[in-house]
Amino acid sequence: MQLAETKQALQTWRGSLDLSRRVGLVPTMGCLHDGHLSLVRALRGRVDEIVVSIFVNPLQFAPHEDFDRYPRTFDSDCRALEAEGVNVVFCPSPSDFYPAGFQTKVRVPDVATHFEGEFRPGFFEGVATVCLKLFQNCQPHVAVFGEKDYQQLQVVRTMVRDLDVPLQILGGATIREADGLAMSSRNRYLSESERAFAAAVPKALQAGIEAARDVRALVGDVTSKALAVLEATPFKIDYLDVSGVDLVPAPAETRIRSLAAPRIFFAGKIGTTRLIDNMSLGVF
Ligand code: AMP
Repeated sequence: MQLAETKQALQTWRGSLDLSRRVGLVPTMGCLHDGHLSLVRALRGRVDEIVVSIFVNPLQFAPHEDFDRYPRTFDSDCRALEAEGVNVVFCPSPSDFYPAGFQTKVRVPDVATHFEGEFRPGFFEGVATVCLKLFQNCQPHVAVFGEKDYQQLQVVRTMVRDLDVPLQILGGATIREADGLAMSSRNRYLSESERAFAAAVPKALQAGIEAARDVRALVGDVTSKALAVLEATPFKIDYLDVSGVDLVPAPAETRIRSLAAPRIFFAGKIGTTRLIDNMSLGVF
């Protein structure tokens, strides 16, 4: 496994590859867990060379967010990636990736407006810009993103379509802990009691799925069932909403079955840790 610590090193490696080699990319911010590794595994058999980027992207953090304290576990990340047969780890410094004078950013599409876009202004602009730059430097045939960050996956898909970026975007299912909590690098911020309360998030989304089984179910029925599960927890909820593919929160009186590919989305804070999750409502 090679380390490419600069954009130039990655471009040199990419340029040395035979044209017939297919390349896959998994963008990450490190502190890797099984969710990240499942995205690497999704590339097996699809590509000849696997690149994983580890880059905590300053552009997607607001000044009050956790950029400085975001967990960094580079050595153990590299050991895990080597064991998965990854070919290249791309780990540039912020100053190499964004040299002095950097100023151009991607203007994000409508799917970025609500949910995370509302609570983290500038976040998706930072995500889309880092992804486009990763794609330019790596020139992958395929890039994989997790459904854990479903809105991010849709923002990247839309950007790639609109800007004619010549690669395929693949979505990977959310990998969960035994009690259902979605794996996340931020879970390590949780205290023991917060960690116990956090298991209520997937249970709430599951309660929403149960309510959505009724063919007459309304969005309000689904969200109130889900909210009831979180009532006994100290979560400060940013949103608990349902939307179709447009990622616009649907009004409470909307019939679930009138939405295209409806999903339920949660974001909230417990203590100082912000968690997000989402699930398909199983209606297609
Ligand atoms: P991050 O390092 O948090 O930026 O995540 C890097 C990639 O891993 C993103 O595409 C995430 O959606 C994906 N990811 C994060 N957590 C999970 C999970 N529990 N299951 C599947 N993919 C995940």
